[in-house]
Amino acid sequence: MINWKTLKKIDAHIHILPDEVHEANPGSEDAWLVTGLHQYATMMDNLGIEKAVIMPLNDPWLMSMEFTVDAVHRNLYDMKQQYTGSFYAFADIDTRNDPATSVQAIRRAIEEYHLDGIKIHPNNNGVTLDSDYYNEIFAYAQENNIPVAIHCYPNSEDDFCTAKHIVSIMEQYPKLTVIVSHMGAFQWEQLLPTKAYADLSAILPAYVREYGIQKTNEILRHFGPERLIFATDYPDSRILQPCEIYESYFTILDQMDFTQAEAERIAYENMSRILNEEPQ
Ligand SMILES: [Zn+2]
Repeated sequence: MINWKTLKKIDAHIHILPDEVHEANPGSEDAWLVTGLHQYATMMDNLGIEKAVIMPLNDPWLMSMEFTVDAVHRNLYDMKQQYTGSFYAFADIDTRNDPATSVQAIRRAIEEYHLDGIKIHPNNNGVTLDSDYYNEIFAYAQENNIPVAIHCYPNSEDDFCTAKHIVSIMEQYPKLTVIVSHMGAFQWEQLLPTKAYADLSAILPAYVREYGIQKTNEILRHFGPERLIFATDYPDSRILQPCEIYESYFTILDQMDFTQAEAERIAYENMSRILNEEPQ
């Protein structure tokens, strides 16, 4: 049996707010502020997490005290620098800026700050995924071989982040590397015909609560180990306390029917390959 706690992993989707945001909010009990960079770094060994990918929130008020996308990128760069090799980080988008300015900021984030991908959260942006706003960003990412993680946890059929928008983006940008964060939640079936990767963040415990263990295993099997990516969304969860998240993931994954080689692929190899492909 596979022990997911000790299995070597990359957590491909976590949230850590920069030190300056923690310092500006002393004593806050907000879930976003439960764990800082240094505390998370001390937890990693015990959780079998060799590396973690820090995702921005497309919300500069959470990720900097200057409230600009450039300040967010600088903070992400600083976090990576403090623990070399332990953290990756994806670039942010601030839709108060026009599309060309957003692409410039992303270009700087990749070329100067050495960030590792782009995160799009249509709901936080208030800009639907099939809007023209993102065209230049997708074109830049496809041309330069930069992975794009897209929040897809729709609350309704006409949400900004629905699975059908992901399908449409992948038709328009067939060479784009897309990681669907939260697996499309309860619209997962619509993503099966695509080649998108699916990260397990936030949704895995929700599937088990909704469908039970066996059906959850079937859903993961539909995607297959070559498309699945271990990720939690720590410390964020709609149904769990931050301190419950990792144990919940390990308990569920221990009950899935993956072979050792399949588990290693989901836990580490798929994301490692995506992160280590050279930007062009
Ligand atoms: Zn997230």
